[in-house]
Amino acid sequence: MPELPEVEVTKRGVSQVLLGHKITDVFVGEKPLRQPLSPDLQQLRGATVQKLERRGKYIIVFTDKGSMIIHLGMTGHLQIIKSSEPRVLHDHFELMLDSGMSVRYNDTRRFGLVLFIPLGVDPYSNKLLAELGPEPLDDAFTADVLLSRLKKRSCTIKQTLMNSHVVVGVGNIYASEVLFLSHINPTRLARDISLEEAQLLVKNIKEVLTASIASGGTTIRDFEGADGKPGYFVQNLKVYGHAEEPCKECGTPIEHITQGGRSTYFCPHCQPR
Ligand SMILES: [Zn+2]
Repeated sequence: MPELPEVEVTKRGVSQVLLGHKITDVFVGEKPLRQPLSPDLQQLRGATVQKLERRGKYIIVFTDKGSMIIHLGMTGHLQIIKSSEPRVLHDHFELMLDSGMSVRYNDTRRFGLVLFIPLGVDPYSNKLLAELGPEPLDDAFTADVLLSRLKKRSCTIKQTLMNSHVVVGVGNIYASEVLFLSHINPTRLARDISLEEAQLLVKNIKEVLTASIASGGTTIRDFEGADGKPGYFVQNLKVYGHAEEPCKECGTPIEHITQGGRSTYFCPHCQPR
């Protein structure tokens, strides 16, 4: 599943072909994604792309004829391709541009989303975006902000970090990595985290996500960068996917447990209860 770094890398990739360009044609497939694709997306024909932003794992495309909210779901990709290339199976949406290039949305499992927001409506007022927690890379995301949100939660710290109402963009892989780097056991309760630990968490969340964006995302399973090249951060994962291998810090075998149906990896020595 694409996580925040992959989405940021994708946004930067497609920005290069979209920004300042005119949308000459729009293809809207008939199969529904998480929600049906609205025929209103055709209103973007003739629009000029003005700005792209990311909020959590959503990409927002602003044009002079309305905006779009895009989510990649489990298996979605935005591909940069010549408009003349034939579409293939699972291509559900396409913006054709005056440059002869296209941005195509391909999604095998169709859990993604492409929403049209009419001109004059702020996409950030959409329920999907309005209820999101703070952006982890914003300066406003501090230990105090995180701690105040953790104090209200009776769930484990691992599951709480993955809750997008607490902070956006800390997916399953990053939650394990950040907790390892912070020497915090994933089964501890969120409300028991101290200010010092929250400081470590904030520092490590920012570092891990920044490093991953710099290296192009994690590329576990389906993800490819917008330019089709895989990311390389996966090689730097310290605990995720390393069950029973020696901890890189102390040599103790890494343990694997399941929390809320998701895999968690940790070192029982470096991250004591
Ligand atoms: Zn260890």
